[in-house]
Amino acid sequence: AKKSGRNQMAFFSPALDHAAQTRLQLVDQLREAVKTEAFELHYQAKVDIASGRTIGAEALLRWKHPVRGLVSPAEFIPLAEETGLIVSIGEWALRTACIQAMSWSRSLDRWLTIAVNLSAKQFQDPALLEKVRQALACSGLPASRLELEITESMMMHKPDEAAATMRALRQLGVHLAVDDFGTGYSSLGYLSRFPIQCLKIDRSFVQNVPDSRADSTIARTIVSLGKSLGLTVVAEGVETQAQLDFLQQHGCHIAQGYLLGRPLESGQFIEQLLGRNIR
Ligand code: C2E
Ligand code: CA
Ligand code: CA
Ligand code: CA
Repeated sequence: AKKSGRNQMAFFSPALDHAAQTRLQLVDQLREAVKTEAFELHYQAKVDIASGRTIGAEALLRWKHPVRGLVSPAEFIPLAEETGLIVSIGEWALRTACIQAMSWSRSLDRWLTIAVNLSAKQFQDPALLEKVRQALACSGLPASRLELEITESMMMHKPDEAAATMRALRQLGVHLAVDDFGTGYSSLGYLSRFPIQCLKIDRSFVQNVPDSRADSTIARTIVSLGKSLGLTVVAEGVETQAQLDFLQQHGCHIAQGYLLGRPLESGQFIEQLLGRNIR
């Protein structure tokens, strides 16, 4: 190999070759997974802090990989995004989540809200509106029970187009939440230009509450900012009672996190909700 010419070296650098092959294989497997719908949604409770009631859930995607088992979205969403496969995967997630929320609401005889994460590609998809409309129609879920989570960077990429997309979604009746709030680069001035209903305080702030003075100040400020704009404020990644106490004390509306419930398969989620954990 050492004697091979420059051109050959450029094409057969073993390290690059290996990485590229792994990637190609993953893309192949992901494409196959889209065909066979080899995904699962896990659901994490959203809890109303004042009443302690579960008001809904966030749907979190997992890939059922034939060899690796359940693969976390952090590992495959970037690849799905680059290849555009996220558009089909996201459509599946949207449809599945709406059907699930409708079925829970029927068996509980009260409405649950389902939150679904959108990726940048999905958000820019001209067919998004139609896909949301279809997911609602085929599940029978009222639009007001669907919440779409988007990030600041998705809104700030092309703010005017983003605002137009959001207004159209709002006209359908769905709710819009800003995910990971505080980690992006949105200017506060922009916030009021977007038709949003909810801010989600990023876990990176919540996790240092109440010990870090700086992060506690940030969390408190986001709560009061959200409230003064008339928005619902959700804290994500709540793991300790001290964090929950702090959030409650400062008037945060909704909490989500391991303290209140890990993401669970649909069957386990509804068992948890009905308070009859069989195992
Ligand atoms: P995210 O939307 O910020 O979701 C919250 C993540 O934090 C989830 O990770 C959740 O399992 C985790 N989490 C929840 N509570 C706690 C806690 O108390 N402590 C800690 N340490 N973590 C907690 P997950 O499920 O691995 O999802 C990671 C990211 O993948 C999500 O972040 C979201 O950006 C993306 N994602 C998940 N599902 C979808 C989807 O259907 N479509 C798109 N486009 N992205 C998705
Ligand atoms: Ca989210
Ligand atoms: Ca989040
Ligand atoms: Ca996050």
